[in-house]
Amino acid sequence: MVERQEELAIGLESVRSQVAKACTEAGRDPAGATLVVVTKTYPASDIRLLAGLGVREVGESRDQEASPKVEESADLNLDWHFIGRLQSNKARHVARYAHSVHSVDRPGLISGLQRGAAEAGRTVRCFLQISLDGDSSRGGALAQDVPALADAVAASENLQLAGLMAVSPVTWDPNRAFSDLLDASAHLREQHPEAIDISGGMSGDFMQALRHGATHLRVGSAVLGQRPPLG
Ligand SMILES: *Cc1c(COP(=O)(O)O)cnc(C)c1O
Repeated sequence: MVERQEELAIGLESVRSQVAKACTEAGRDPAGATLVVVTKTYPASDIRLLAGLGVREVGESRDQEASPKVEESADLNLDWHFIGRLQSNKARHVARYAHSVHSVDRPGLISGLQRGAAEAGRTVRCFLQISLDGDSSRGGALAQDVPALADAVAASENLQLAGLMAVSPVTWDPNRAFSDLLDASAHLREQHPEAIDISGGMSGDFMQALRHGATHLRVGSAVLGQRPPLG
């Protein structure tokens, strides 16, 4: 346990210092960059150690995995970010514990999210996930579908439109991806000035995301170590 704590402390410190450096280089206030530590596939014991190291924002990508971890971590007062592809029949349940959902990419999710949030008496921040290369098979709304999706979230009493999220397409230069994401964010803000957040950047590309205005970084393996391949 002590060893694991040490490992996590080193990973976290390394990411935090890179974030601080990138913010300085970009003339940004580091307080404007939220590090979401992605704990998927790692045990709740790691989440407890991370909380002890000052982590408040954690990310999970599957409801089946997240739910028991949320319960085990109830005393830690964490904000849970749901970042994975969301099945429509899971939306209501996810909204009961998620502080933010980063993967809202179709209208069919909204009523379930609204219902779950209302039942739990909470407000859930929603990032609209967009597909930057127009291939939505890996999740993400097409640019042309974003305005209607944004309006539907904004019109839901217990949902709050946070902004946009994207994953850099594997074959793209991340600088191009996050520059496009920033443009899409500016476009969204013409209709929804409150939607200022940008969720971009993972372990391999958070420095580029920060350079292009990302406000939320979803970083897993750079903190926790390489995940075993998903089965
Ligand atoms: C797993 C995952 C991450 C974190 O990936 P790392 O490469 O481990 O940092 C970020 N975003 C999404 C959507 C993910 O599924």
